[in-house]
Order: sequence, then structure tokens, then C-alpha cells
Amino acid sequence: MKSKVKNIITGGAGFIGSHLVDRLLNEGQKVLVLDNFFTGRKDNFRKWIGHPDFEFKLHDVTLPINAEANMIWHLACPASPSHYQLDPIKTAQTNFLGTLNMLNIAKKNNARFILASTSEIYGDPEVHPQTESYKGSVNIIGPRSCYDEGKRIAETLCFDYKRKHGVDIKIARIFNTYGPRMLPNDGRVVSNLIMQGLKNESMTLYGDGQQTRSFCYVDDLINGLIKLMNANTNGPINLGNPKEITILELAKIISKKLNISENFIFKDLPQDDPLQRKPIILEAKDKLNWSPLVDLDQGLENTINYFRNL
Ligand code: NAD
Ligand code: UDP
Repeated sequence: MKSKVKNIITGGAGFIGSHLVDRLLNEGQKVLVLDNFFTGRKDNFRKWIGHPDFEFKLHDVTLPINAEANMIWHLACPASPSHYQLDPIKTAQTNFLGTLNMLNIAKKNNARFILASTSEIYGDPEVHPQTESYKGSVNIIGPRSCYDEGKRIAETLCFDYKRKHGVDIKIARIFNTYGPRMLPNDGRVVSNLIMQGLKNESMTLYGDGQQTRSFCYVDDLINGLIKLMNANTNGPINLGNPKEITILELAKIISKKLNISENFIFKDLPQDDPLQRKPIILEAKDKLNWSPLVDLDQGLENTINYFRNL
């Protein structure tokens, strides 16, 4: 009998990671989750506890570990600005040491390795929309730098492990992703606005709400990650939905979907908050035959239903 593919998913207790756990186990593969529960939760994988193909280890990726794997999906890192800024030094360590430790496991096992990088490596972009060749405009010493620069050095490490040790690395530059299992108090815009609306509170808009983002539904992103892992390319590859909207528009759409009147309170724009963000996904279309399928309307509907039923 053919032996099952062994996957390590770091950050598998988190929002995106837990959707990946579901997909790989449903495909009949083996999954080991490594997570320290900083922003992840047992509830996100509770249904798999006791399944013969599923294993969980409470582990902080900044520490070395030995494990067997054919594929390593390295997602461990808080993604919401409010969470990654809580302990910025730890965030930088997670990105550098965590990626180094996981690359060492990939090297030992001759495993394929995917890094969950981010559109934040483009910083507050001067080039719009963003292609993979754009080198970014990141503040080196600002409050977002622990994350932005952390992911940039993580990408550098990946390419040095490829050049020096021949590790088959892949880099996904993930743009704003949303969906069920985001934490309700996560601080990110989609969860904040939906939770505020459901509680009949004012929706908080930072700045004038004219900054833009492009929101990708989590199922689409998981398809992209799986295609990238199995493709004959290292990337980096942008994975995101190219439909760009302002945060004010998003708040209006969510208010309409919740059937409530618009009730917005404007707050200061956080330092270094990017004013615009939209991926060019020609590489993903061309090399992965991937593009997002779920529109904002449907994705928000699913996400609102999730938060309603919490
Ligand atoms: P999340 O905060 O829900 O998940 C992160 C997971 O990593 C959590 O389970 C957390 O407990 C775990 N973790 C954090 N530090 C750890 C450590 N030192 N050791 C072990 N586990 C640790 O975030 P998410 O939205 O699911 O993001 C997953 C990955 O995707 C992150 O690497 C993030 O940078 C990247 N990403 C996400 C988005 C997005 O919009 N959601 C966009 C770009 C990139
Ligand atoms: N934002 C907002 N209100 C909120 C939370 C976020 O206006 O309650 C804004 C934030 O300033 C940013 C955008 O929404 O311009 C996206 O923020 P998020 O934290 O979701 O992601 P990121 O800034 O990392 O793209």
C-alpha cells in the first residue's frame, strides 16, 4: 500500500492553518500540528482529536524540534497587527528562529517547504497594484516592522536554504484573507466590523476609511496554497483576491448585509498603515492555474453566519 503523505503544519490551530488541517486530513493525508496557542485554539481542530492520521504537539517554533515530514507548511506567526505588536520581539523571533528551525527539518527530511509570507513585505507600497518583482517600501523601525521585516528575513532564509542546501522551498505572499475561525477579538477589520455590527456598536474606521485592501476568502487561499505546494516553482507568488475596496465601502457592505443602519466612528490611522493594497495574480494564474472563486458577497455571508453562531 502507498504510504500516506506526512505533513507538518505550524500554526495549525490558527485561522488559516486549521482550514488546511481539514483539507489535508479529508484528502487522507497525515498531519502533525505544531502550535503554541498564542492566537490559535484547540476548538479549531477539536473534531480531529483521536483520528489516527492527526497529531498535535504543543510547541513553540522558536525552539528546535525533530519530526518526520514530506511536506512542511510553515504558518506559525500571529497575523493581526494588534497581536503581532503585543510582543514584537517574540514576533521577530518567531519569524526568524521559527523559519530557521522548520527549514532545518525540511533539509533533514528532504521535505517540500512552504512559507506563509505576506503582502506586508511590500509595506506601504509606492507601486500599485503589487507584482512579485516589487521590492517594497517597508519602515525598518516602525511598529509593524517586527512582522514585515520578520517575513522578509524569513523569505531570505528560504532562498538561502534553497541555494545552499537544495531545499525545495515555496513562498506564498498572502494578501488579506478572511473567513470563519478568525478570532472575534482578533482586531482585523473584517472580524472587528462584523462583531461590532452584531453587537449594535459603532464600527471603528481608522483614518478616513479611504485606504484600500483586497479580501480573499479562506477556501480560495487554501486552494492556492495546495496548488503552490504541488507546483514546480519556488515563487514568491502573490495569493489574494484582486478586487480592491476601501475600508469605508467594506463597512457599508457589512452594515447592509447585517441589515443595520450605518454607524461609524472614525479613529486615528495607525502608524505605517498601508494606504493601498491589491495583488497582481498573473503568476498564480499562469504557474498554478489559480484564481479566487468566492466573491466578497458570498464570503462575507459565510463569515457573518459563523460569527452569529459563535
Ligand atoms: P492566526 O493568528 O490565526 O494563526 C497563527 C497561528 O500560529 C496560531 O495558531 C498561533 O497560535 C500560532 N503561533 C504563533 N506564534 C507561534 C510560535 N512561536 N510557535 C508556534 N505557533 C505559533 O493567523 P492566520 O491569519 O491564520 O495566519 C497564518 C499565517 O498566514 C501567518 O504566518 C500569517 O503571517 C500569514 N498571513 C495571513 C494573512 C491573513 O490575512 N490572514 C495575510 C498574510 C499572511
Ligand atoms: N481597520 C479599520 N477598523 C478596524 C480594524 C482595521 O479601519 O476596526 C483598518 C486598518 O487600519 C487597515 C485595514 O482596516 O487599514 C485592514 O486592517 P487589518 O488589521 O485587517 O489588516 P492589515 O492592516 O494587516 O492589512
